[in-house]
Amino acid sequence: MKIFNLFLASSIFLTACKSQSHNNSIAVDQHTQSNAQAVSCKHLQLAIQVDFEQQQLRGCATWEIENKDADELHLDTDQLSIDSVLVDAAKVSFHKDTTVPHLGERLRIPIQKNSKQVAIYYKTGAHPRALQWLTAQQTLSKTKPFLYTQSESIYARSWIPCPDGPGIRFTYDATVQVPLGFMALMSAENPQSLAKDGQYQFHMPIAIPAYLMALAVGDIAFKAIDARTGVYAEPTMIAKAANEFSEVGKMVSQAEKLYGPYRWGRYDMLVLPPGFPIGGMENPKLTFCTPTIIAGDKSLVNLIAHELAHNWSGNLVTNATWNDFWLNEGFTVYFERRLTESLTDKSYADMLWELGYQDLEATLEDLKGKPEDTKLKLNLAGRDPDDGLNDIAYEKGALFLRAIELKVGRTAMDTFLNQYFNHFAFKTITTEQFLDYLNEHLLNQYPDVVKDLAIEAWVYGAGVPKNEPRADQDRFKQVNAVRTSFLETNAIDTKATQSWTTHEYLHFLRLMPKPLAVSKMQKLDDLFHFTQTGNAEIADLWFIMSVAANYMPTPYTTSNEAMRSFLSSVGRRKFIVPLYKELMAHPYSVPVAKEWYKAFRANYHPLAQESLDALIGK
Ligand SMILES: [Zn+2]
Repeated sequence: MKIFNLFLASSIFLTACKSQSHNNSIAVDQHTQSNAQAVSCKHLQLAIQVDFEQQQLRGCATWEIENKDADELHLDTDQLSIDSVLVDAAKVSFHKDTTVPHLGERLRIPIQKNSKQVAIYYKTGAHPRALQWLTAQQTLSKTKPFLYTQSESIYARSWIPCPDGPGIRFTYDATVQVPLGFMALMSAENPQSLAKDGQYQFHMPIAIPAYLMALAVGDIAFKAIDARTGVYAEPTMIAKAANEFSEVGKMVSQAEKLYGPYRWGRYDMLVLPPGFPIGGMENPKLTFCTPTIIAGDKSLVNLIAHELAHNWSGNLVTNATWNDFWLNEGFTVYFERRLTESLTDKSYADMLWELGYQDLEATLEDLKGKPEDTKLKLNLAGRDPDDGLNDIAYEKGALFLRAIELKVGRTAMDTFLNQYFNHFAFKTITTEQFLDYLNEHLLNQYPDVVKDLAIEAWVYGAGVPKNEPRADQDRFKQVNAVRTSFLETNAIDTKATQSWTTHEYLHFLRLMPKPLAVSKMQKLDDLFHFTQTGNAEIADLWFIMSVAANYMPTPYTTSNEAMRSFLSSVGRRKFIVPLYKELMAHPYSVPVAKEWYKAFRANYHPLAQESLDALIGK
């Protein structure tokens, strides 16, 4: 694929030659086998039944289509079993192509020029990658089984036959039949109480891409936070969750002040059981999130700032292909930090920027042999788009926007971003379209800074350019001083640590020598009780340090209760993959890693299982 030389192009723009502007035709998405350009799928009518006994979804997906000039409709499917297909109520014979790695099976349906409606009767396969079926035992309340979906990036096709590309939007209605006493929720207008007959109707009048299709079913309660926001969770978690998220209404209003109206109606959150493999998922109207952010002191609520920000960057303005993923995530991290800063102060946001920078450095180290994967604009042809799901898109992307902000000033940057969200609202966009827009609407007013910005290097170059901005370190300097003095004297002035937030503790621990001497680990544990902490971010880091140091009251046996219970309940990949990696790195901890993984594998989401099977073996 030809890489656009922006450096050259910017100077062309600056001499006002518009003819060099990018061709804005629909980007080629290498991760869908649908033919959305030829046949547009405008609206989905979904009618499904949720069967917990068979662990299966069964039903019918009816697509309202607009056929431009094709004799077949192509949809993405992944292990779906197709029973029958009707085109305008007449049965047709369909064909399923053989499986393409990562992409699944293309479904071919014969259509006529004037065909209007295609109904597909189907059931899900044995191991749909989007679905996690939990037994009652694997939930917090332990009363009923639970089901939830995770469709990003290309997993919607494992539970709905659909055109599964981020550049293809559709509206939907759904009827979902669940067992009596269960609640069902979707990325749509949601119920707030149980349906007596177990049947739920959903309406989503705003067009969204397939990766934002979402469903959760279980023993779920609702609690309002204010008129616009609320929280869903298992009954045993609902009060704690509502308390943790009590400020989210203010957060939505603050986000609007920064970057324009919230356009999705209600903003609700669903706290999932602990097996949820990621931190959060920005499903429209209903953010899905991990319970590991419920720390009891609101210290990890900035994850909600991230998911909320996606309602502008991602859900409103969407990356056209997964190669442009940084447009979703880099913008969202930037927005999240700006939002957090406006709700706290600069010194607090600076800590988040610095921790993000450390994450980026670690990712660059991990990807040392794969420089191509450290570019913002990726080439994921033939690969799983999840290969691009790392801190290049998130942190390098955000840092690039921060670099622009520092050059043009905050006021100009914010005016530009407001314009950007408005101009591309409910549209999809490629990296090249963004760069064109950036030139036309911001950078051409600042010809002097364009050269310094090194945009070409940021977007199409490997690693991070030398002009990378670095946050002020005011609060971390004090943390560094405490760490240095502890390493030298084995003593800590606890007055200095009294006001620390989670982020100061993380920085304190991250920069400790590895392995740390057992006596020092013991001293820290005596002072701060890290082994018993209820804060998942700190616990995970501490357990990794514990394994590296071979420190634990009873090392690496199943009686190591704190770490065992963490790994048995938490399913967030960000936590469990590095911890298992550390356990597998030392002969003394390999046996227990294998034993625990065997015992807990069923508690993890299929996506987490994939990562861990590769590391530990099934
Ligand atoms: Zn995100």
